[in-house]
Amino acid sequence: MSGPYPLAVAEYPRVRQSILSQFDNCRLLAGMSRELEAGWSSHAQARGQVIHRAIAKCLIEMAQHEENRIEPDVALAILRECLRQADVPAHDVVALPASEVKDMVWTIQKWAKDNTFDISSLVAVEERITAGIRYPDPEGGFVERQITGALDALFITPNGEHATVLDWKDTWGIPGPTDLSFDGYFQQRVYAYLVMKQYREVQSVTTREFYVRFSEPRNATVHRSDMEEIEAELSALVENWDRAVQHGVMPWEKSAKDLRREMRAARREAERLAGEGDVAGANAEIEKWRALRDQYNVTVGLWKPAPGAHCSFCPRPQACTIQPQARGAGRITDADAAKRVAAETVAAEAIVKKGKMALKEWVDKNGPVDVRDAKGVRQFAHIPQNKTRRVTQEMIEEEIEKARRAGREPDIDGLYERYIGTRFGLYKPKPTVDGEPDPEDQSLLEQLEASVEAAEEARRRREAA
Ligand code: SF4
Repeated sequence: MSGPYPLAVAEYPRVRQSILSQFDNCRLLAGMSRELEAGWSSHAQARGQVIHRAIAKCLIEMAQHEENRIEPDVALAILRECLRQADVPAHDVVALPASEVKDMVWTIQKWAKDNTFDISSLVAVEERITAGIRYPDPEGGFVERQITGALDALFITPNGEHATVLDWKDTWGIPGPTDLSFDGYFQQRVYAYLVMKQYREVQSVTTREFYVRFSEPRNATVHRSDMEEIEAELSALVENWDRAVQHGVMPWEKSAKDLRREMRAARREAERLAGEGDVAGANAEIEKWRALRDQYNVTVGLWKPAPGAHCSFCPRPQACTIQPQARGAGRITDADAAKRVAAETVAAEAIVKKGKMALKEWVDKNGPVDVRDAKGVRQFAHIPQNKTRRVTQEMIEEEIEKARRAGREPDIDGLYERYIGTRFGLYKPKPTVDGEPDPEDQSLLEQLEASVEAAEEARRRREAA
């Protein structure tokens, strides 16, 4: 036997990094992908796959000719060949609409023009690496499993100690300068694990996400000293995956629906009995409901949804048990939803703008308006602020001319008059102690006095000149 989850081991002798990544993001998403795996891909995914194939072929071409770069027109010719998909097995052929090709043409040329590689360090292109991982078997010993991932390109330094995994990204956005993509954290750890298992002399692995549209990299490095921690994480994840495959029930399966129906019936019965004063009977029904709920959690709960940016790749968002409005960053799952949210956002911004204008007018005449929210009581108010007069080129030239005529040094600093203005917005009101001036008011008063004094001084200087 293969440990406690033989079905999972039989169905997945090797667990792919991509499915583990999905499972790590949202268990229900991984469960759906498992059910619906039919080899289809969105247009964006199809575009990414063909670009990946073209870049892989470019690297192989460079390696064959021992050249560190490739001419853009050669890269373009390779892309055009890849668009035909003539050498791709039927089940891997993607549906790529012509509308996507225009972008791909300039992307591959830009990639070729902007990049040079140390091709002598290239070790593998689009290679699938497999490594063992294990978790404790309750019967004793360990369950030995295998995880696998395909690397876009792998470079290893001549001394064999440092590896770089290139991961081409074809997205329209790039993360901050020190960040990876939303799935980058997981990818870098799996890639590092696979590479360090396969290449024992490698001491550190850098995952380099390369945003091909911008020729911008984002790097993250994992060291061999991190391996124990990564192994523990992956071991737990694979064990959970196996348990879900073995015992998990999808929310739309009949057994899940039956459980929900029984739970509702038990709760209704408990309410009826409580209404009739039968406390013991009501408690018994509540106990029954609890047992059903536990049963639900250890079956359907194994494929629990967790929303996030990955929702945009969800193959069946309409079947998700979390309502779209509650999915946060993951509420947009198709182009129509994106248009709808864009229109709602524009309308909401217009409402906010008009609301602020109306409030500003009201506060002008009637003073601050309190508002209570999760951050406590705040106020829409005009807050006094120090401001500095805007000085134009004409004003400077005028001052220079005046000074010349008066035979004095121009007073450019004096042009930058400071004054007190107000700024309208939402503020936390400052508590004041009875009888003592508010520290901010006091400070502003002092600054106002200093400003008046400076103006007086400037006037005196002008009169003396
Ligand atoms: S919509 Fe989001 S949270 Fe729901 S199943 Fe899909 S990926 Fe998971």
